[in-house]
Amino acid sequence: MDTYLERLNPEQREAVESLDGPVLVLAGAGTGKTRVLTTRFAHILLSGRASPGQVLAVTFTNKAAREMRERVGHLLQRPVEGLWLGTFHALCARMLRRHAEYVGLTSSFTILDTDDQLRLLKQVMELHRIDAKRWPPPGLMGAIQRWKDRGLTPDRITPSEDTDFAGGKARQIYADYQERLAQLNAADFGDLMLHIVEILRTRPDVLAQYHRFFRYILVDEYQDTNTIQYLWLRLLAKREGAAANICCVGDDDQSIYSWRGAEVENILRFEKDFPGAKIVKLESNYRSTAPILAAASGLIAHNEGRLGKTLRPGRNDAEGEKVLVASVWDSDEEARMVGERIEQLQRDDHRLSEMAILVRAGFQTRAFEERMITLGLPYKVVGGLRFYERQEIRDAIAYMRVMNQPSDDLAFERIVNVPRRGVGDVAMQALHMAARSERIPMTAAVLKLLADGTLKGRVREQLGLLMTALGHGREALAQASDEALLAGPSHVRVVEALLEDAGYVAMWKKDKSPDAPGRLDNLKELVRALVEFDTLGGFLEHVSLVMENDENAGADRVNIMTLHGAKGLEFDSVFLPGWEEGLFPSQRTLDEGGNKGLEEERRLAYVGITRARKRALISHAANRRIYANWQSSVPSRVVEELPEEHGEHRGAAAGARELSRSAPPVFGSQFGGQFPLMARRPRTAEAWEQPARPSRAGGIAVGARVFHQKFGYGVVTGADDSKLDVEFDKAGLKRVLDSYVEPVIGSDSGAPS
Ligand code: ATP
Ligand code: MG
Repeated sequence: MDTYLERLNPEQREAVESLDGPVLVLAGAGTGKTRVLTTRFAHILLSGRASPGQVLAVTFTNKAAREMRERVGHLLQRPVEGLWLGTFHALCARMLRRHAEYVGLTSSFTILDTDDQLRLLKQVMELHRIDAKRWPPPGLMGAIQRWKDRGLTPDRITPSEDTDFAGGKARQIYADYQERLAQLNAADFGDLMLHIVEILRTRPDVLAQYHRFFRYILVDEYQDTNTIQYLWLRLLAKREGAAANICCVGDDDQSIYSWRGAEVENILRFEKDFPGAKIVKLESNYRSTAPILAAASGLIAHNEGRLGKTLRPGRNDAEGEKVLVASVWDSDEEARMVGERIEQLQRDDHRLSEMAILVRAGFQTRAFEERMITLGLPYKVVGGLRFYERQEIRDAIAYMRVMNQPSDDLAFERIVNVPRRGVGDVAMQALHMAARSERIPMTAAVLKLLADGTLKGRVREQLGLLMTALGHGREALAQASDEALLAGPSHVRVVEALLEDAGYVAMWKKDKSPDAPGRLDNLKELVRALVEFDTLGGFLEHVSLVMENDENAGADRVNIMTLHGAKGLEFDSVFLPGWEEGLFPSQRTLDEGGNKGLEEERRLAYVGITRARKRALISHAANRRIYANWQSSVPSRVVEELPEEHGEHRGAAAGARELSRSAPPVFGSQFGGQFPLMARRPRTAEAWEQPARPSRAGGIAVGARVFHQKFGYGVVTGADDSKLDVEFDKAGLKRVLDSYVEPVIGSDSGAPS
């Protein structure tokens, strides 16, 4: 029998082997839903039911997509290429590029980031003479996004849907905003789904093509799909005269994105929409120890609107340490305590990458980041675009965007005067006027005003140089794409040349401020990132889609992320700070009142606790700085709801309140030594699920067998700093960054045979 099926319990096997017709797996945290989906993927391929390109698989994050690709590769013992595997947005972007013309775009359309979206919306609002102080643009942006999440194009918005925004102008502004996007050959994030659903709804030929194409559809984290994602899935899955081969896995108790339009009701509709659906329940949790499970189950039992599921320990070593609840004086104390725990775990040979600090709100990460830096503990903020958010990176990307797509006005406006080219208000106005009256992109307007002599003096000279640099780049790029297959990625050289010729690099070289050298290093790193892509377009797409910080992926680092971002992940040790009223549950939830918001916060707490395999430490501080002010706070009601017998409370915030601010750290010492949380336990994770990833400190030796996301398996033939020469089985000799390859250890680390 196939060994990969032996690694499943009978219910899981049933879900994997029921290949004909719709399947819904509804089960609690850690019961192997994702494992079912991954195994089902491999099973479809191994049983010859479909080729890799005929399976459509949706994950909630890019990271999850990467993991699934890796695991399917392990199961198949070969890298799998050409998969339709990714997040809803990534998959829709890919589809939309194939059919962009149906919605008035070209296939090279730009995907706008949130800054650009807002800037564009502001411009549209200005044309309508709407007072941005009275009607803040972000509010309307949110409303537009909600509409898009529900599949509502401007013409589908009924008067009753229209908000009272700016005296009922919202719908019109939305329509104008969409028109402006089309003129710019751009799509915002919501459009990726909106457009493709519109195409599938109105073009039966396109839909039929995908029906022929996708034989199987797999969806993870189904409880968090919103209406438009649901519409998309339904369109693709339901076909005339054939059963829908769709398999969705989800957990209503982990529905945490209703604020972004997710509809947990989609789970309930599944049986109605897909008659004859097989519903599979999984009840054994293989992730967490018994006390962790009991704490999580006891907590979620306080929610009323539940489908109700049983969850029992499925591991034989499932006894373990109680969930710890620590009260501390303030957020600094909290960060210190967490830092100490992490150091101690590290001394006891635990890997940093097996620890996670999960926060409720983004601002909480700062204290922990600073603490990690102070202690010299490597960490990564997962889910934040830290690198790509830096000013110089955004500038450089804007340059690339304009080169890639001359009609990208937003990017052009960002760089037209960076470095300073003497483009003042008057010149800008002339450019805007020319662009608007002729309905041409800004870059075309520049060329026009250069040609007819409107621009003079320094502006003329400088913009001339800029346009030349962009033009050369574009030309070289066009040639490069022909040569790319032979000569390797020459777009990298093109970008380097552009940033030099446009004077951008020189600007930072001239800059005498202390952070200028760091910025130049960042630009170099950006160029290094480009090397990983075959085309500039591919890279830009990546930047606009990637939600997580990929640098040094695989290195041993503590994970810092939001609870929302941690969905589906697991770690040996999980730190859950800031469980205080007003923070978790959030102030907003408390202000809104009612039970709905509180239940979602409770689900979020449930998600948090169930990320832990072996230990969970919840903490709450008696004092917290909210912006500039200190506030005293009370423990979260969620803490009070934890079942007593499975948790252990440490520290006493009440007592701590009386201590002066300068008192020596009380809990740092109290929590040292034989803190029960720290008892050592042998690692029991299976090799199959946790492919060993040795730290990169020693580098990867010549002769080692490795796996690369894109090029597959190969052998290292040379190493130089962070670069490796690898002879790939399929792709031949390539030079790659070591952080992108995984060592393959022995013959037993890959897939079972
Ligand atoms: P979540 O709801 O958090 O997304 P999940 O239901 O997707 O969880 P998985 O992540 O697939 O659960 O599995 C949780 C852990 O249990 C993983 O480490 C997985 O390898 C392990 N696991 C799943 N099924 C089995 C099994 N039959 N035997 C042993 N371990 C298993
Ligand atoms: Mg999962």
